[in-house]
Amino acid sequence: MRLSRFFLPILRDTPKDAEIVSHRLMLRAGMIRQEAAGIYAFLPLGMRVLQKVCKIVREEQDRSGAVEMLMPTIQSADLWRESGRYEDYGKEMLRIQDRHERDMLYGPTNEEMITEIFRASVKSYKQLPLNLYHIQWKFRDEVRPRFGVYRSREFLMKDAYSFDIDAAGAKHSYNKMFVAYLRTFARLGLRSIPMQADTGPIGGDLSHEFIILASTGESEVFCHKDYLEFPVPEADVNFDDVGGLEKLIEKWTSLYAATSEKHDAPAFDKIPEARRLSARGIEVGHIFYFGTKYSEPMKATVTGPDGTMKPVHMGSYGIGPTRLVAAIVEACHDDNGIVWPEAVAPFHVGLLNLKQGDSGTDAACEQLYRDFAAKGIDVLYDDTDDRAGAKFATVDLIGLPWQVLVGPKGLAEGKVEVKRRSTGEREMLTPADALKKIAG
Ligand code: ATP
Ligand code: MG
Repeated sequence: MRLSRFFLPILRDTPKDAEIVSHRLMLRAGMIRQEAAGIYAFLPLGMRVLQKVCKIVREEQDRSGAVEMLMPTIQSADLWRESGRYEDYGKEMLRIQDRHERDMLYGPTNEEMITEIFRASVKSYKQLPLNLYHIQWKFRDEVRPRFGVYRSREFLMKDAYSFDIDAAGAKHSYNKMFVAYLRTFARLGLRSIPMQADTGPIGGDLSHEFIILASTGESEVFCHKDYLEFPVPEADVNFDDVGGLEKLIEKWTSLYAATSEKHDAPAFDKIPEARRLSARGIEVGHIFYFGTKYSEPMKATVTGPDGTMKPVHMGSYGIGPTRLVAAIVEACHDDNGIVWPEAVAPFHVGLLNLKQGDSGTDAACEQLYRDFAAKGIDVLYDDTDDRAGAKFATVDLIGLPWQVLVGPKGLAEGKVEVKRRSTGEREMLTPADALKKIAG
């Protein structure tokens, strides 16, 4: 992509009303723009990152055996009257009437709708287990939308819903999502810690919030430091191995980890002092087993092996991709801007022509641009007339993993400068070697 043809509305000044670093950097880097309170447009750079986040989320859901679909954003209020949640949900729900004065709503979540879809066609335990998910916009009229896309009113959510014949089956479905979540966040360059979360009126201990440590996080968290070093399950983990998965989850839940709502100070104090971690964190995912809470009132029943009809056991599993983009920026930045982990970087390389209009630098850049493209590497080519200093500042701000700086001085010796954004390391290389180094 040529920067002169792209849309990258960089802000040179720090936006005043942005309280946390990710919000400031995402605005400055031209990733997002607020269109109304808590409602954001994702501009091209932000969109590229969001798509990469979604791709990883999707790959790990698919790997675990979940099946993707897409439900609408607008729902009928009648579904929510069936589950009894229409009145309960309160002011967070955006209620709408259509031209026929039918009550509709903009979905804050999809338990009711997926239960309706399930019950319409699944009738036998033989069709189970089943886990259906989608990645769709949600609306919650948050009391205090803030921090940009960290807590917005309209946000993207991956929500999965599992269906099993009994509690034991549901536990295995839960374990699969648990592992998928650990892998998802690790691939995004983040260390997540699963923490016991409130299960509400259902009780039990089958609810975990996945937390990323960050000083600006809204949650206060307490855990054992060993969680920072636990190995994340590999890609070849066998999701059908019930016992194997259970062991993994036992390990990942063996040590103390809780948010302030579930904090048990005496239990935390039993951890040796040097291993105690009390910090702030960002909730990026939440998994939840809720048994027959929706299947019973909404009559989602299947025939069991003994021929009797039973309400299915369900769980739901959320990840917030838009919040994740902010969480990654919170975790990955320095004084000069964002430092994207490679897996989600909007472009792999920034190619800087330090003297646009100079026949030598122009020709070298054009050649490198074509060579990167031929190797399938995403490159953002700064072919604008900006001063070199402004180009350096922009490419640091937007955090691309590699920079290739092409100036007349280096070219006189047949070299370009390659800079690694994360370490600041610089090296003079021939264009061919630069290509080799970056393409791997
Ligand atoms: P929170 O406690 O932060 O409000 P929640 O418990 O309401 O979150 P869930 O209903 O479990 O969230 O939603 C699943 C995921 O969706 C969350 O883990 C988070 O990543 C994301 N999410 C929820 N609310 C928002 C929001 N207002 N803005 C951005 N992402 C959100
Ligand atoms: Mg909430």
